[in-house]
Amino acid sequence: MNMQSLESRFENITVNDENEDQYAAPTYHKSKVLFSPVSTFTKAEVIKGSLSTAISLSSLTASAANNRLKLPLQKLPNTNAVKLASNTSTTTVTKVTLPSQAAQRPSDILHQRSSDPVISAQPPPPKQFHLGMFEIGKPLGKGKFGRVYLARERSTGFVCALKVLHKSELQAGKVEKQVRREIEIQSNLAHPNILRLYGHFHDSKRIFLILEFAGKGELYKHLRKEQKFPEWKAASYIAQMAAALKYLHKKHVIHRDIKPENILVGLHGEIKISDFGWSVHAPNNRRNTMCGTLDYLPPEMLKPGRDENYYSEKVDLWSLGVLTYEFLVGEAPFEDTPTMTQRRIARGEMTVPPFVSPEARDLIKRLLVLDPEKRIPLEEVQQHPWIIKHCVKGERAYQRSSGNKQRSSD
Ligand code: AMP
Repeated sequence: MNMQSLESRFENITVNDENEDQYAAPTYHKSKVLFSPVSTFTKAEVIKGSLSTAISLSSLTASAANNRLKLPLQKLPNTNAVKLASNTSTTTVTKVTLPSQAAQRPSDILHQRSSDPVISAQPPPPKQFHLGMFEIGKPLGKGKFGRVYLARERSTGFVCALKVLHKSELQAGKVEKQVRREIEIQSNLAHPNILRLYGHFHDSKRIFLILEFAGKGELYKHLRKEQKFPEWKAASYIAQMAAALKYLHKKHVIHRDIKPENILVGLHGEIKISDFGWSVHAPNNRRNTMCGTLDYLPPEMLKPGRDENYYSEKVDLWSLGVLTYEFLVGEAPFEDTPTMTQRRIARGEMTVPPFVSPEARDLIKRLLVLDPEKRIPLEEVQQHPWIIKHCVKGERAYQRSSGNKQRSSD
């Protein structure tokens, strides 16, 4: 099938039901043509695709090796192939962002300071991704600005998620800068608990993000379904969050929007931080923009503008405290009317219900500290008695359940 026909088929798909089971038969609404390529993959295929990640990706990486010039972050909007304002009718203009390369490069852009010299060596031509390289499967979900589909790279069988963003919608929503930032940051991250962005490409109307497929969907939905998590599960998630945040902060990236809605779950139950729309690369670790979600906002971000209110990566520690609370209690600690929420956050006013264990309560209280400098550091979170107590047990339970699932899907 040529790319044009696939593209026109793609145009005609609308998402019917984002809440359907991840492996249920796809439900497409097609206005003109039938969607003939393999439109959904069996669970075994998906697992196989995911397990073959290393092989598939290494072949992708090998073919595109050394083809990407790392530019300082602030230069990217001018040089990156993602031109949101583009009104050309070209079908595919691409730029490869291979995280495996990103992870290996010592000149990783996230380590570069604005004072670093711009790399001027001429790069070899980039590998070109385009829509025709992918078989498009069932819709996985719909966000504010785009739709996400299960997809498979034809040549390697590599299973991924393809996020489609319409340029006109991004422009109307004035979020071009946010999307650029998301792409720049996420494509340079490689951690098991952070959703990978393998690459991106665009045509005249849309931007396509090639993302790691998170087979178990949104953590938020799991939490709503279970109401609250058992302590071993919450501890395992918080340990994974701490590892991912440690990695981010080491790269001078502040996420700024940690909440259950921005966390996905991988096929084996592991969590994947996603949505870097609000994250920043802050080499000096200080920013003073107000953003994020009210329930998760740290006190220092409530009063922006004054020098003493500049905030650091420690905002993510506060959000980790809110997350721990919400995992265990089922609702955020400062949930109230907007005015009251702000007031309560500013005073650190919250009560931990008695059913929460003393160890978990201790960790929550050490994270939800008004003074950012006095919050427990991530290294200590990882060693906290609550994490130590539950993680070994949690790991065993997780291994047991994923081992069982693995066997039953074989
Ligand atoms: P977003 O636009 O990123 O908020 O994505 C919309 C929805 O699509 C999410 O809420 C998820 O349910 C789903 N989704 C997004 N990315 C992925 C992914 N990489 N793997 C699986 N599902 C995803």
